[in-house]
Amino acid sequence: MKKQTHTLLKNIYGYENFRPLQEEIIDRTIEGKDSFVLMPTGGGKSICFQIPALLFDGITIVVSPLISLMKDQVQALKANGIKADFFNSSNSPQEENEVINKAINGEIQLLYLSPEKLIAVRNTWLKQLNIKLVAIDEAHCVSMWGHDFRPEYTQLKVFRNSLPHVPFMALTATADKSARKDIENQLGLSNSKLFISSFNRKNLSIEVRGQVAKKKKLEEITSFIKRRKNESGIIYCLSRKNTEEVANYLKKEGHSVAFYHAGMNHEERESTQTDFINDDIKIVVATIAFGMGIDKSNVRFVIHYNLPKNLEGYYQEIGRAGRDGLPSETVLYYNMRDFVLYSQFADGGANSDMQKEKLNRMLQFAEAKSCRRKILLSYFGEHLTENCGNCDVCENPPKDFEGTILTQKALSGIVRMKEKDGITMLINVLRGSNNADIHTKQYFNLKTYGIGKDVSFFDWRDYVIQMANQGLIEIMYSENSALKISPIGWKVLKGEKTIRLTTPTTSEDKKKKTK
Ligand code: ADP
Ligand code: ZN
Repeated sequence: MKKQTHTLLKNIYGYENFRPLQEEIIDRTIEGKDSFVLMPTGGGKSICFQIPALLFDGITIVVSPLISLMKDQVQALKANGIKADFFNSSNSPQEENEVINKAINGEIQLLYLSPEKLIAVRNTWLKQLNIKLVAIDEAHCVSMWGHDFRPEYTQLKVFRNSLPHVPFMALTATADKSARKDIENQLGLSNSKLFISSFNRKNLSIEVRGQVAKKKKLEEITSFIKRRKNESGIIYCLSRKNTEEVANYLKKEGHSVAFYHAGMNHEERESTQTDFINDDIKIVVATIAFGMGIDKSNVRFVIHYNLPKNLEGYYQEIGRAGRDGLPSETVLYYNMRDFVLYSQFADGGANSDMQKEKLNRMLQFAEAKSCRRKILLSYFGEHLTENCGNCDVCENPPKDFEGTILTQKALSGIVRMKEKDGITMLINVLRGSNNADIHTKQYFNLKTYGIGKDVSFFDWRDYVIQMANQGLIEIMYSENSALKISPIGWKVLKGEKTIRLTTPTTSEDKKKKTK
């Protein structure tokens, strides 16, 4: 068998060696056992089920939610002489019949189905097939704890139960611990083995720039692109409107740009994708709808124009850069405004607590003062022993200083305002600003009014967020983001605990360092 798998790798795919874990996963599957495969996008998941599928004498069912991806994979397989087909809502009734007949006659080795279709046909012709393996791609869609839950995936357990002796393989590029457990439960993979390949993409640099005003952000992005002439990149924006605005701005600056979002019709989207893949367009400004299933190896940079909603999404999106292994850059811009906006979106919706928790993690990452790669990888359960040397924090380590008095000033400001106001008001009071709100509330009478004049607004903001990250302040999203003092915060106020803060690295300093 070993020899056979190698021969297939070479003859069909043209590769000399397996990547780490691929061979182990293939061997285990051939033995008839379940596996859980967690590999980053571009890590080589497909081969893990495709090679066993070729060795089995029967059919392999591949469940995938992405119709465009399904088509691409099937085409690629067919081009290599493999008997593959797909069955989804894009088939005509006639095509459907052809596929069904071929499947029943044993003329298909790999059959790709959307979860809806699988559930729909599970009790009809699918019963007649000699199923030898089931691969569930994008398996995180099964879990409410994932970030892309799809209800139709939850019915897959019934299918699993109907095939107790057939090996199942769950594959995903994104699942934290709780999601992993949930996926195993949902799919009934009680004896599966977990395979995690390293998520560390060393060739991707990681940079975060916080609190940059819109105009400046656009200028920074423009000069970033100018310095990378003719290189491909993706700029992710939060809203459809944003993608169009940013694309138009860059177009005026003379760059090769298009926008992409789910509000465009199918043809427009497809042609933008094709132009990007063929290098006819260098830069796509897109919502997160873009990129799923796009296999382009020479994307040199990914910029996030807004804060992503969670680390899973962020990691997947930056992972679209540098698939060829060459150095590539990622830059994340964020604003407290994005954060507050998302928190409000999440309010009241399904899973809103979980979404907020994930959003908090995202913000903590953006605000972090230690190696970003360490934080990111530890989120996915992988622990680096050394700092990475390829993120903005490693390149420009923050200096820390004794910040107890500064912290006490902010905390007493919050207390004097009876814990009813947000970060902007706090800073305006500390800095002794003179605006209408301060007048209305008569905050100029407070003892803390103006005690922080010597620190700039943006530095204050940075410090207050550090205080929140250190757990001294809670931001009450449910109360218009009012700041409250935590029990540890009270200790600091009473002088029972000292605090260290780090010097803010403003985006200006960082810019000087960028070549
Ligand atoms: P994923 O599904 O994990 O995102 P794919 O299965 O699409 O990744 O593989 C990503 C790329 O890596 C593909 O171009 C694939 O051909 C290539 N690849 C997979 N396995 C190997 C290998 N053993 N050696 C070289 N290239 C590989
Ligand atoms: Zn680092």
